[in-house]
Amino acid sequence: MTERKRRKRKGKVRKDRLPMPKQTPQERVRNFDEVALGFTPELAMEEAKRCLDCKKPKCRDGCPVEVDIPGFVREIAEGRFEESIRVLKLYNALPAVCGRVCPQEEQCEKLCILGKKMDPVAIGRLERFAADHEAALGEARLPEIAPPTGKKVAIVGSGPAGITVASDLAVKGHQVVIYEALHDPGGVLVYGIPEFRLPKRIVQREVDYVSSLGVEVRCDYIVGRTRTISSLLEEFDAVFVGAGAGLPWFLNIPGENLNGVYSANEYLTRVNLMKGYRFPDHDTPIKRPRKVAVIGGGNVAMDSARTALRLGADESHIVYRRSRPELPAREEEVENAEEEGVIFDFLTLPVRMVGDERGWLTGMDCLRMELGEPDASGRRRPVPIEGSDFFMECDAVVVSIGNSPNPLIPQTTPDIETGRWGNIVAEDATGKTSMEGVWAGGDVVTGAATVINAMGAGRKAARSMHAWLSGEEPFFPEGD
Ligand code: SF4
Repeated sequence: MTERKRRKRKGKVRKDRLPMPKQTPQERVRNFDEVALGFTPELAMEEAKRCLDCKKPKCRDGCPVEVDIPGFVREIAEGRFEESIRVLKLYNALPAVCGRVCPQEEQCEKLCILGKKMDPVAIGRLERFAADHEAALGEARLPEIAPPTGKKVAIVGSGPAGITVASDLAVKGHQVVIYEALHDPGGVLVYGIPEFRLPKRIVQREVDYVSSLGVEVRCDYIVGRTRTISSLLEEFDAVFVGAGAGLPWFLNIPGENLNGVYSANEYLTRVNLMKGYRFPDHDTPIKRPRKVAVIGGGNVAMDSARTALRLGADESHIVYRRSRPELPAREEEVENAEEEGVIFDFLTLPVRMVGDERGWLTGMDCLRMELGEPDASGRRRPVPIEGSDFFMECDAVVVSIGNSPNPLIPQTTPDIETGRWGNIVAEDATGKTSMEGVWAGGDVVTGAATVINAMGAGRKAARSMHAWLSGEEPFFPEGD
């Protein structure tokens, strides 16, 4: 009997999960290094031993890519770290990324049986540990790759959905080419998530792993401009579109075109992908504001506000129209922002941006809000308080209220069905679109969502694509 089983039998499971070692707030707010430092092998084994190795593991039901969670955690508990990453990679091509940015508290950890009485197992932290341990050894173990099938697949976009499809199909023996519009692969993982939360070298490592499976990655290639989907279908047997959601929403209020107003997408792309954070080695133009107001309450808003502090802002504010309990960002990211000194202005709605005679932003006219009845999202609707208008001084605003799917593919692919928000319509279970030979998944279908949801969509599409490429399944079932 393992030590874990013995502990389980005696009811001696540690109640609290082990905390993640982190840089102190004072230290980290002055650098772009990763905030979380990761578990040591000792901490990882101790945390893994809390897992009860359930016969019917609920945690697995919460994972969109169905990782064998007790399987990989068991290997860590027993000190077989290389084996644990082998188990993980059977299901997930991006474990180091998912271990860092997945909202595990809403997925696997939310369903962990321990969570009923105590802290759930820190599954995300263990996933990250296993991936980082393998990276530290310097060599990734490759899975068995099936003999070549002679089928060619093009993937549009190298974000989480595209990478998942690419790795799943490459392992099945298909020849895969990824087309990426930007100069570095990784999609939202490189342009959208800051270095202090997801270092670029981690994303590159995962992309290198996919390349080592035989996948070719072609950057600076804009499908929809350089070449259309129809033209890809002349060369490839199948196409997967994972072009993401990079079209930012704005508030549509007066003054939003003033200098100093950014979309979060532009702000983070300048800092992350264009390396604005490495000034003066890279002199990407980016305003270094004294006081920045970030509008929104999601993870991207937290990333933007924390980035502004690292770029030297004296004050960085989150301006959110609801209150703290309704914040959509991960609790962990909200706590990190609070620790670092981000100021939260809840129940506040900007109604006009104000500038000087040279067109530079000087502040925003805002209204105070109160919460009314729940709206369609189930959250209480913010309602303006009459006569509550006030002026908030600031010299930069970052609008972080969401993104729409990239419009280029829908605009240049007349045969593909699109939805109300400009998204590509695809079957939930398979990712099939209205166009034979074309699948789609991730944010271009659902609008901006999580990394793991995009990967889950990629996994389903890869299954369906493989069945179709192998001649096991028609694209349109009879009767359709
Ligand atoms: S539900 Fe929790 S305790 Fe059970 S196998 Fe999953 S992680 Fe371990």
